[in-house]
Amino acid sequence: MPISSRAEISEAFPSVQQEVARLAASAEMRSAFAWLRAQEAQFAHWQLEMARVAAPPFAEAARAAWLTQKFRELGLDDVHNDDEGNVFGTHPGFAKSYVSLSAHMDTVFPTGTPLNIRQQGSRLYGPGVSDNGAGLTAMLAIVALLRSVRIRHALPFVFIGNVGEEGEGDLRGMRHIFATPRWRDSIIASLVLDGAGSDTIVAEALGSRRFEVIVRGPGGHSWSDFGTPNPILVLARAIHSFTQTPVPTSPKTTFNVGVIRGGTSVNSIPESASMRVDIRSTSMAEMERLEAALRIALDRAIDDESRVTEARAVSQRRPFGLSYEVVVIGNRPAGELDPNARLLQVIRAVDTQLGNAAQIQRASTDANIPLSLGREAIAIGGGGSGGGAHTLQEWFDCNGRELGLKRILLTMLALAGVSA
Ligand SMILES: [Zn+2]
Repeated sequence: MPISSRAEISEAFPSVQQEVARLAASAEMRSAFAWLRAQEAQFAHWQLEMARVAAPPFAEAARAAWLTQKFRELGLDDVHNDDEGNVFGTHPGFAKSYVSLSAHMDTVFPTGTPLNIRQQGSRLYGPGVSDNGAGLTAMLAIVALLRSVRIRHALPFVFIGNVGEEGEGDLRGMRHIFATPRWRDSIIASLVLDGAGSDTIVAEALGSRRFEVIVRGPGGHSWSDFGTPNPILVLARAIHSFTQTPVPTSPKTTFNVGVIRGGTSVNSIPESASMRVDIRSTSMAEMERLEAALRIALDRAIDDESRVTEARAVSQRRPFGLSYEVVVIGNRPAGELDPNARLLQVIRAVDTQLGNAAQIQRASTDANIPLSLGREAIAIGGGGSGGGAHTLQEWFDCNGRELGLKRILLTMLALAGVSA
């Protein structure tokens, strides 16, 4: 998607731009902005407190309880958790369709990771403090604002702390929400908060499919059973032919063999060997084509290895029992936002209004799920700045949080419609 200049955007969507300008100049927004500015110490406090509640993959319950409690304290309606562990709270409007604001609760850090969460000046340090401490804190800031400053919006809001965004969580939280009729049929625009910053708009969902491929054979002694088919050699053949598959630069499509395992000892013909393969693209069709290529490469490799060993077998022993299995270990659907989507017009008009330069990006986030269903969704940051994501040295700087919060607030209200 080409990144247009601000002037071009204003010309392309004059009505949305005017609407956002009118909204930003309203008395409610001026008091909202002043309130957000005054609350920074509270926001940083929440962020530190939350980051101290561990939320390893598949073990987000303690943090979910913390967030549920905050949603209640801050006066959201219908605060509840679903079967998957997602946390919900709503803020009323006058219509039935929702604008959602969500942030994932899980971190990449396993149980037992030392969480040395601390503050030095405007900087917060520690695992998960930015990803997704920044997103969760921004969501809480908007919730708190709606209680303190009276703003009437037409569409209701649903606020969601979801599980399972990172790694093998495989977007399970978002997947569950969009498989639930109540939400699937009512959320018309999804704003996903992930990490720090105000300079990106993830409007293209990078899909991925990940596989564990296991090849099995009879195994044997390297000398006396020579001629028995070898699973490691099958993998080697399969890797060689799979990686010859051409991939387009647009839509960008990639593959990787990231892990390879197998065998017992140098003088054993292995009984099994395995590899982990990662396929990524913004196009579902490209991912499907590559998956098919992987299976064809495996079929051929089995045939070739069987043929070669059959010819080589000196004993009467028939080469038997070569098989493979492909286990899906990750599946994130691809998709992209229509360039004419209202959500895109709104966020760009908001960025123009705030003098914020943001770029459209392609990434794998919770927005993949609604985008893959043809829904309007983007992922943006919670403001401020951050770094060292997924490391113990992770940090977040509160400077610039205000810009991120204004951006989120204006976007939500422009999407929902504000009644005077
Ligand atoms: Zn994240």
